[in-house]
Amino acid sequence: MRHAAATTGGLLFKPGLRSHGAPRIKKGSTMSRDATAPEERETWPALRRGWRRRCPSCGSGPLLRGYLKVRDTCPACREELHHHRADDGPAYLTILIVGHLMAPLLLFVFETWRPEPLTLFTIFAVGCVGLTLYLLPRLKGAIVAFQWARGMHGFGSHPEPDPRP
Ligand SMILES: [Zn+2]
Repeated sequence: MRHAAATTGGLLFKPGLRSHGAPRIKKGSTMSRDATAPEERETWPALRRGWRRRCPSCGSGPLLRGYLKVRDTCPACREELHHHRADDGPAYLTILIVGHLMAPLLLFVFETWRPEPLTLFTIFAVGCVGLTLYLLPRLKGAIVAFQWARGMHGFGSHPEPDPRP
């Protein structure tokens, strides 16, 4: 198991990146995780699938039931998804992004066009709510996919005991 993981670990890196016959392995790469992981789980493809609110494993089954509820298992590939601990991470990221986009934009619009206060409020209220509703489930999907790809919580080969009652 350990030997197999050590030989496949080099496949994570493009051959072009290798020099002098030795594979370059960055510190803190996925190498250490793969020594115990049951399969290769690439982070970026998983993140893209999660962003599209698809199962991080197969990319075809829907990740969410309704607006934000993560399904227990993927309906397409039966991958277990209930191990996730997204918690308030998606909300945190959404506030971070929406706030950093909208606050400078508000200042810019006000300074440039000096619109009527009610007009300004209406535009930015709709904009903030719309962007928030757009980002929240996608960021949740990405966070769940990240946890899945990194084998965090119960997603790894040695699942933690479920703390939920
Ligand atoms: Zn799936």
